[in-house]
Amino acid sequence: SPWRATVLTLFPEMFPGPLGVSLAGRALASGLWQIEARDIRASATDRHRSVDDTPAGGGPGMVLRADVLAAAIDAAGIGPERPRLLMSPRGRPLTQARVVELARGPGPLIVCGRFEGVDQRVIDARGLEEVSIGDYVLSGGEIAAMALIDACVRLLPGVMGKEASGTEESFSDGLLEYPQYTRPQLFEGVPIPAILTSGDHAKVAAWRRAESEALTAARRPDLWEKAANRGSGQKTPKN
Ligand code: SAM
Repeated sequence: SPWRATVLTLFPEMFPGPLGVSLAGRALASGLWQIEARDIRASATDRHRSVDDTPAGGGPGMVLRADVLAAAIDAAGIGPERPRLLMSPRGRPLTQARVVELARGPGPLIVCGRFEGVDQRVIDARGLEEVSIGDYVLSGGEIAAMALIDACVRLLPGVMGKEASGTEESFSDGLLEYPQYTRPQLFEGVPIPAILTSGDHAKVAAWRRAESEALTAARRPDLWEKAANRGSGQKTPKN
């Protein structure tokens, strides 16, 4: 069966949203992957259908209830082979390596938080892996879930054309991608770098490698250091 994302959210109407358009949308329409958005509120049990309550210990905002969320997770009927993720700014930052793993598997369950977050006991009791998409705070986990799903879907077999294999992209070798150019040959007086139109494939490859390394060293010293330690960077870090 195709790769599948099961999303638990208070706003199922947000899905597939942008994932229904362009590359991911065409792949969804042709059955290369599936998405199921399930309403957490359907698992609420009191007569107000409440899903949240005030934080124990005080403080602002509301917290998603453990009992309601646990019931929603259990009702999703997720087998042990599927990763269970919770989108969370406290999570381990998402990397391309984790995306590749998730894309190779059967597809995750993804819990989208709202408010101040979710009761810690459900994270522990259902073994949720907290995943962050960056050091900033969104108002809910839905857009974070969409980012994760989009990153996975484009790697699924048959989704990207053969012209874009994903093997030369940013992070695929631990480095940022080299600059890209296309026609026109002259833009506001600036030509395409001559090497790229020379037809010399070895020179093009060497130029791209050098540009990748320079960009990574300048913008992402953290990545550059790792690449150098792995021996993937040919030079030692410049600073
Ligand atoms: N009080 C929480 C904190 O300080 O960690 C922030 C909660 S945030 C307003 C509401 C929800 O948005 C979170 O439970 C999470 O699901 C989602 N979210 C916000 N920022 C995120 C990020 N950088 N990565 C992944 N999910 C995020």
